[in-house]
Amino acid sequence: MSESAEEISLQLRDSRMKAALLKAAKEPLHIEETPKPEPGPGQVLLRVRASGVCRTDLHIVDGELPSRKEPLIPGHQIVGIVEEGATAELPLGTRVGVSWIGGIDGTCRYCRRGLENLCDAPVFTGYTTNGGYAEYAVARSDFVFKLPTELDDLHAAPLLCAGIIGFRSLRVAGVEPGDRVGLFGFGASAHLAIAVLRSWNCEVYVSTRGASHRQLAASLGATWVGTETDKPPVELDRAVTFAPSGDVVIAALASLRKGGAVAINAIHLDRIPEFDYDRLLWGERQIRSVANMTRSDARDFLQIAADIHLQPNVTVFSLDHANEALAAIRNDAIDGAAVVVP
Ligand SMILES: [Zn+2]
Ligand SMILES: [Zn+2]
Repeated sequence: MSESAEEISLQLRDSRMKAALLKAAKEPLHIEETPKPEPGPGQVLLRVRASGVCRTDLHIVDGELPSRKEPLIPGHQIVGIVEEGATAELPLGTRVGVSWIGGIDGTCRYCRRGLENLCDAPVFTGYTTNGGYAEYAVARSDFVFKLPTELDDLHAAPLLCAGIIGFRSLRVAGVEPGDRVGLFGFGASAHLAIAVLRSWNCEVYVSTRGASHRQLAASLGATWVGTETDKPPVELDRAVTFAPSGDVVIAALASLRKGGAVAINAIHLDRIPEFDYDRLLWGERQIRSVANMTRSDARDFLQIAADIHLQPNVTVFSLDHANEALAAIRNDAIDGAAVVVP
């Protein structure tokens, strides 16, 4: 007897998965069935457990970053279980995280200098390649990170970009233990960075719009909280800005001591306004951007997160409601991070 219709439909379903597809910028994601990806050489197939929502996803969906792939499955903070492509290091069933940096060429002048975050030919998860707003995803085996058992799926997902890049921002700003550090904006990334800063005994000054963000910052141990127009009451050693706004960068710069640095944690800024060099940048103050992340940033941060039992605030959305999750970030409607689960 030939295969029954039911068996054929089961097999068909087995080769299909549900995903949120971006078909054209500025349109809502389409939640629909699509072929399940197959891992190529050096890749693993992951059954997705959770996928964090990042502000960069909004820039992609809203067309503020040029389209690199259509249709595209966004999402670059993936927690998944290895189902195919297992290796000795990554046995079947290993729980791993995938971040924004999905691959590098390993040969360009930046890679050769250990600056893999600046690679000339990078793969970006959920941007140049499909990401995690789906039931399954593939990833390069050498770009997945084993997740410490202290971190559960929902709380690990927002660590994978927001957390890692927030941590890298602290490194780029040159934060040292005990420093006075300003956080300008208090979304997913900042609310993770403050936990690391507190564990380093830093004083944290948070300037952000939205009373609930200020309350969250205070509850997480900020020394001072103010609105986006309030100036911190002391001169800061270091500052990190999180808003896609050049005005915020200038506000941060205006709060620095001589020799201090501002790290800009934003892949896109509206513009940088004119500012007074003599008053704001003279005195060896620095402005630096933060681009992507390295695998060692990821490993170091995940270890710290496990050590300090970092517990992000998360709001969970089902994959069917991926558009609502994006809207929540766009409207600053939640405190902490949004996570999509299939
Ligand atoms: Zn490279
Ligand atoms: Zn991101």
